Amino acid sequence: MTTSHPLFTDDHEAIRRSIRAFVEKELRPHAEQWERDGDFPDDVFRRMGELGFLGLHFPTEYGGQGADYLTMLVLAEEMARCGSGGVSMAVSVQCEYVTPPILKFGTETQKQGWLVPAIAGTRIGALGITEPGAGSDVAGIATRAIRDGDEYVVNGRKIFITNGCRADFLLLVAKTRPEQRHDGISLFLVDTDTRGFHVTRRLDKVGMRSSDTAELLFDDMRIPASNLLGEENQGFRHIMWELQGERLSAAAAACAGAQLVLDDTLAYVRDREAFGRRVSDFQSTKHKFAEMQTMIDAARALTYETAWRVERGEYPVQQITEAKLLATRTHFQVADTCLQLHGGYGYMMEFGVQRAWRDSRLARIGAGADEVMLDYIARQMGV
Ligand SMILES: Cc1cc2nc3c(=O)[nH]c(=O)nc-3n(C[C@H](O)[C@H](O)[C@H](O)COP(=O)(O)OP(=O)(O)OC[C@H]3O[C@@H](n4cnc5c(N)ncnc54)[C@H](O)[C@@H]3O)c2cc1C
Repeated sequence: MTTSHPLFTDDHEAIRRSIRAFVEKELRPHAEQWERDGDFPDDVFRRMGELGFLGLHFPTEYGGQGADYLTMLVLAEEMARCGSGGVSMAVSVQCEYVTPPILKFGTETQKQGWLVPAIAGTRIGALGITEPGAGSDVAGIATRAIRDGDEYVVNGRKIFITNGCRADFLLLVAKTRPEQRHDGISLFLVDTDTRGFHVTRRLDKVGMRSSDTAELLFDDMRIPASNLLGEENQGFRHIMWELQGERLSAAAAACAGAQLVLDDTLAYVRDREAFGRRVSDFQSTKHKFAEMQTMIDAARALTYETAWRVERGEYPVQQITEAKLLATRTHFQVADTCLQLHGGYGYMMEFGVQRAWRDSRLARIGAGADEVMLDYIARQMGV
């Protein structure tokens, strides 16, 4: 199991123990209810901020714990144990999607205004890239932010925005030169109480049900020019940088989720009998487990090595893409095989395997669909 991996030091394991204790005591007991409610309380962010879990690898001067990047793996692995993919995803959005670009590209004022409260869990963030007319093709977005004096006027729509209903602020991706594609995009920090910001719909989803997913409308929304994050018209490059962290954290969560559903299913097939034998005694079952574990180990090894490279200061984009592709595909395939091994019970809502199956499907679309990942890898290979 992951806890004995040589990548992790005693410090990592101490962090792991404290996150695990929190997850088991404060999240896991409520997971079923939150899934049924289709929501979880904002207090989860505040509590995780209080415990220091939202800023593990962020500098102490901004309220972080000053630990290394590998703590991202520890957090993803332990959050997977909470039993609700929606909660894990919402937390990842806060600490692996929204806050890293503020740390990297933000001014000191922006770090104090948005990063510090996000790490403390007192302000919740969301990331607004996807639009009704453009998802995979980020450069094809239509939301405009047009400079007017010392403000930008924003008009447009976003869709599928995680944390979008509850967010206090949005990291917005918009066109500042609408006639351009990659060279006309900029990032902005937008407080959601700004006039002209509207949550138009809370979307109903197949999985990740405890997380909120919003459709947003910006109607002549005026934001101060000082809310521009990073360089004007360099937003495409900035958001591509953000996506690398997002993809690697998705890979880590997928490996952890796959291992958990495999372990649970192993216990189930050891107990369940058919034709006078335990289901685990069929050779086809043994082979399924052998294949699943091999896939998980390969995906995890790639994910760990990639995170280790990032921690060393490398920017291994192809490897991050491969890790995201392999780990998220593996998670879904493992969940699907595990559902099969549960037979009819696997299709019942009272058994957790169906949730793993529904939740794991998303990561093959979100943060870059499989096909986009494959395109990217092929391009890096010069194919
Ligand atoms: C639950 C959920 C949460 C999300 N959270 C967020 C969020 O917080 N913030 C945010 O900005 N976005 C979010 N997204 C959006 C997500 O990132 C997009 O759905 C994803 O990038 C795909 O974009 P799309 O849905 O527009 O699909 P499209 O771009 O329309 O693609 C549809 C399909 O076409 C195929 N395809 C696309 N491009 C290619 C290609 N180049 N080659 C071959 N085939 C291709 C793929 O099969 C792809 O799945 C979320 C989505 C979901 C479902």
